[in-house]
Amino acid sequence: MRLIIAIIICMIVNVISVEIPPADYFDENIENESCPEVERAEDEKDLVLIDGDILVSKEQAAIYYESGWDGLVNSEAWSPTKARWSKRIPYQVGAGISAPVTVGDGRIKANVENSIAELNGRTCLSFEAKTCKDTAFIKFVKGDACYTIELGKPNHGARTISLAYSCGGTAKRARTPAHEVMHTLGRAHEQTRSDRDDYVTIDARNTCSTQMAKNNNFRLYGIGYDFLSVMHYSQWQCAFYYAYQGQQLLVPSMIFKYKGKADDVGQRLILSDKDIQHIKAVHCPSMMMRLVGGRDNSEGRLEVNNEEVWGTVCSDGFDRNDANVVCKYLGRPDVEE
Ligand SMILES: [Zn+2]
Repeated sequence: MRLIIAIIICMIVNVISVEIPPADYFDENIENESCPEVERAEDEKDLVLIDGDILVSKEQAAIYYESGWDGLVNSEAWSPTKARWSKRIPYQVGAGISAPVTVGDGRIKANVENSIAELNGRTCLSFEAKTCKDTAFIKFVKGDACYTIELGKPNHGARTISLAYSCGGTAKRARTPAHEVMHTLGRAHEQTRSDRDDYVTIDARNTCSTQMAKNNNFRLYGIGYDFLSVMHYSQWQCAFYYAYQGQQLLVPSMIFKYKGKADDVGQRLILSDKDIQHIKAVHCPSMMMRLVGGRDNSEGRLEVNNEEVWGTVCSDGFDRNDANVVCKYLGRPDVEE
């Protein structure tokens, strides 16, 4: 059967000091005992916590507090060479997590494993245990807070993700490891999006005004605002007390223009569909395909997403093998005779 479909379009605040390094940073890793030690990434030194859970250098922090993410990302102090991870992302789990001593440690380990399993299962990314050959990788360690370093991949060395029980070890925080991983993939917090004022009203009296500042530098990839993203903060982040009729009332930092329950915003239970779309848009662009206009979900015009625009073109040379690849991606049976 001759397929008329086409070939794919050009395919396609407060400064908080955090003790660094975490306690088990240099512990021997039980899965890689024979590997020589790899130093932590060069930019992981003398760091300051900004935006809740992102560590940056003192110089970067000073720019951030002066002019927010917009100023920082456009400054020379921001690492200009942020490499993109390949689809295979090596990772290592420090001994404080991989060999649990307490029940709490075991829960951190489970949350790391389940976060990795979801990322592997729902995207084209493949998180795999680090081997001796890997010189840039993610390292999960048990620390006294949850954070990662800057945004994006280091040029060389271990990119630390610190997890503590309180923020990354409970059942409600099951996807905190995924949240931190998504920072290492380059994603910023959802409530700082350039269009967030259409969805969120920030109370100017919040306790961390810089954290609540909007940033215009990060790409949205045509993906709509997502209250249920694991990258969104809850209304209680940066909440403050207000004296009212002799009582101290806790007031949310944000009011959501959201039809669902406000307390569902800030969830860390599962990656939202739009979280997955973000990863695919950056790392798996060839996976952005869909069928449009058919009678059911097994037929239609093939469209491919290219540079945030859905489209299709016709061309010769699209054969049965190509079609089967598309069908497999879309979860459909092979092309019929
Ligand atoms: Zn974060």
